[in-house]
Amino acid sequence: MTTKPLLKVEGLKKYFPIKKGILGRTVGYVKAVDDVSFYVNEGETLGIVGESGCGKSTTGRMLMRLLEPTEGKVEFDGKDLTSLSTEEMRKTRRDIQMVFQDPYASLNPRHTIEKILEEPLIVHGLDNSKERKKKVREFLEIVGLSAYHAKRYPHQFSGGQRQRIGIARALMTNPKLIIADEPVSALDVSIQSQVLNLMQDLQKEFNLTYIFIAHDLGVVRHISDRVGVMYLGKMVEMADSEQLYLKALHPYTQALLSAVPVPDPDFKKEQILLEGDIPNPANPPSGCTFHTRCPHKMEICTKVTPRLTEHDSGHSVACHLYSEQVDNDIKQLEGSI
Ligand code: SF4
Repeated sequence: MTTKPLLKVEGLKKYFPIKKGILGRTVGYVKAVDDVSFYVNEGETLGIVGESGCGKSTTGRMLMRLLEPTEGKVEFDGKDLTSLSTEEMRKTRRDIQMVFQDPYASLNPRHTIEKILEEPLIVHGLDNSKERKKKVREFLEIVGLSAYHAKRYPHQFSGGQRQRIGIARALMTNPKLIIADEPVSALDVSIQSQVLNLMQDLQKEFNLTYIFIAHDLGVVRHISDRVGVMYLGKMVEMADSEQLYLKALHPYTQALLSAVPVPDPDFKKEQILLEGDIPNPANPPSGCTFHTRCPHKMEICTKVTPRLTEHDSGHSVACHLYSEQVDNDIKQLEGSI
């Protein structure tokens, strides 16, 4: 694996306007993604985790510009994607593909698998008809299906097989980056590990870079080199996968980790139960947005937003418990009272 960043994201924001009245006046914003920055090195897997509504899927969609960012920069392979024209972005999508959570919903039920897999090649003007059909059969076998499946329809496959088809479709254009949005969440646990193993094998074979989005830290651990944890539109912790699992710093990550089952019946783990629900992103709490649920809340937490700062090498956290800036933050707080 190289350490060259393939993707760099800086200050990414997505604010959805809240409209009211017959004139549709904007009365506020839902800050679905609020100032998120990260990078992904070539050949690595970055996991992004958090509860539903934390902004992880919105982030994934903005990277492909399926949603336009409100602000921020997305640099892919040296190109600033946010400044590309629609046509240039369409061409770039050959190198960035997506795998979705629900393979059935993302596969056209009226098309044969052959037609579904050929489509990305046709869209990007790649190969002639004979070459495309040959490639479809090759890729079906690469993902563990058979060439004869090409003539079947999506409903003739199980959930796990359909996700293999979704993965094959993403691979057809020979992409560099695959954004997998909850790719195994809809599958039985027994099938999940088969699909994860397949994704890992394909990563080695095709030198792929993955962004793996999930709500389950247990699943993300299996596949990620590094993990970013999101809460209410912000990245609150980011670290190497092992480091995060051994020594999570942010109270939210600690709570998520305490809920991951351990495959040892004698190992007793204390689960940290978070109080309350995830707050309304249209009206997020002041200061640290996690303060309404945090068991370690301090006075400063309700007033000053903690910044994501490096605590150990490669391990960043946004929490006043670790902030070397905390003295400055307290002065800033005292100044504001
Ligand atoms: Fe908890 Fe305060 Fe840290 Fe937020 S900043 S996670 S409220 S201790």
